[in-house]
Amino acid sequence: VLVEQLKDIVGPSGWTSDATDLEPHLTEWRDIWRGNTLLMVSPDSTEMVADVVRACAQSGTSIVPQGGNTGLCGGAIPDRTGKQVLLSLSRMNRVRAASAEDFSLVAEAGCTLASIQQAAADIDRFFPLSLAAEGSCQIGGNLSTNAGGINVLRYGTARAQALGLEVVLADGTVWDGLRTLRKDTAGYDLKQMFIGAEGTLGIITAASLRLYPAIRNPETVLVAVESPDAAVALLAILRAELSDQLQAFELMSARAVRYVLNHIPSTSFPLDQESPWFVLLETARQTTGDDFAALFMSLYESALISDAVVAKNRSEANDLWRLRHSISEAQKKEGASLKHDISVPVAEVGNFIRVAETAVTREVPGTRVVAFGHVGDGNIHFNLSQPEDWSAAEFAEQGQRLASLVYDVVDSLGGSISAEHGIGQAKREQLLRYRGETETGLMKAVKAALDPDNIMNPGKVI
Ligand SMILES: Cc1cc2nc3c(=O)[nH]c(=O)nc-3n(C[C@H](O)[C@H](O)[C@H](O)COP(=O)(O)OP(=O)(O)OC[C@H]3O[C@@H](n4cnc5c(N)ncnc54)[C@H](O)[C@@H]3O)c2cc1C
Repeated sequence: VLVEQLKDIVGPSGWTSDATDLEPHLTEWRDIWRGNTLLMVSPDSTEMVADVVRACAQSGTSIVPQGGNTGLCGGAIPDRTGKQVLLSLSRMNRVRAASAEDFSLVAEAGCTLASIQQAAADIDRFFPLSLAAEGSCQIGGNLSTNAGGINVLRYGTARAQALGLEVVLADGTVWDGLRTLRKDTAGYDLKQMFIGAEGTLGIITAASLRLYPAIRNPETVLVAVESPDAAVALLAILRAELSDQLQAFELMSARAVRYVLNHIPSTSFPLDQESPWFVLLETARQTTGDDFAALFMSLYESALISDAVVAKNRSEANDLWRLRHSISEAQKKEGASLKHDISVPVAEVGNFIRVAETAVTREVPGTRVVAFGHVGDGNIHFNLSQPEDWSAAEFAEQGQRLASLVYDVVDSLGGSISAEHGIGQAKREQLLRYRGETETGLMKAVKAALDPDNIMNPGKVI
């Protein structure tokens, strides 16, 4: 009965039960999580989403919202029972309004991140959220995971970009909170509860987003440094010198770069590859070119950096960014990998990499650490590639043990076990373990208040 009701609500082009069509929606890129579904529906309006949720609520059927399915922690994948409804936001992909004067735009949840960046550029404004999956991930997914990316250093995460939300609640009620206010002290800031909730509290159908002035003179620089500690010291100097003109600051180990050059076609590296670490940074510079060159010359003379190259134009800058964005893809070619997207206080990044590398290589000798990421936010992808003489399956079996070692180091430094992809199905136990009873008790209370029948993405997060 429910299936027929849902088909009626969304119309003939709004649902599928075809195995081939469903396949990319029932697993993720890394094929770790796999599920089944009663039906996949793709509503194209908020009213349709509300009708779907209401029908599901009446029959006690749970719903799994899915955006671009790039989350990689099982959050958007239904369980194996085949009883859950998969709700894709892909057809809700309109930009409803964009205002250059208000520095804001209102977009539906299914707009890809790249299309939002473009909509902002079309009115000579800048939307700063930027990550390697931006062509496929959707703004609803970005908000639901509080996504970060390369420009968090200057602009903050998805949370900081949201001015308002429209949400379909667990009983099908629509909350219209699509304000574009910069200041609003009227009661609780409800939108923040749905941001980072991974679809467990309601379905985000639209968002009003903060825009910024367009960047006129971006400067992209690749520098060689001796260690993560040197990178952190460099970051501190550049932030003091350049203030908020520094907008991206990404660490790459020599191994990560080597994997990219080995496995990704038409990539090249403009520096001598002998250095053990590199930083790719970008500024929205207001200083003159001479000041900028003098700053880097003084860093070179102080031996904090051993080499540097400045992109001469946007095409060279894009080539440099391609190196950074290809690391995950290249690492896949090196066999099984175990990934930990963690954060620690910025000043502890070097310490974390050192202690965690010692711990994991002592436990499984031959493990190849591929560490890279957003030093400016203290957020490191601490990825591990299998020892060369191991099978992928043997290494995968070590996943839990190695993750515990890494997370214990993170916890001892006051960090977070999840700084990007979210909790999903992958880190539920760890959330309970590392966040303690008081904090997870509050999370459970919020969940029970907003979704008393537990139909919104059950089995995820909490
Ligand atoms: C190559 C690559 C690079 C990446 N780089 C980064 C990075 O730099 N920074 C970063 O933060 N992440 C990164 N990610 C992770 C991922 O892109 C982000 O988590 C992204 O925000 C997920 O968006 P999505 O639309 O794909 O969401 P999905 O994967 O579809 O869903 C993620 C979660 O949100 C829920 N959800 C989705 N849409 C909605 C909605 N409208 N309402 C309610 N719940 C919803 C889902 O149920 C699920 O729990 C990367 C991923 C890849 C593959």
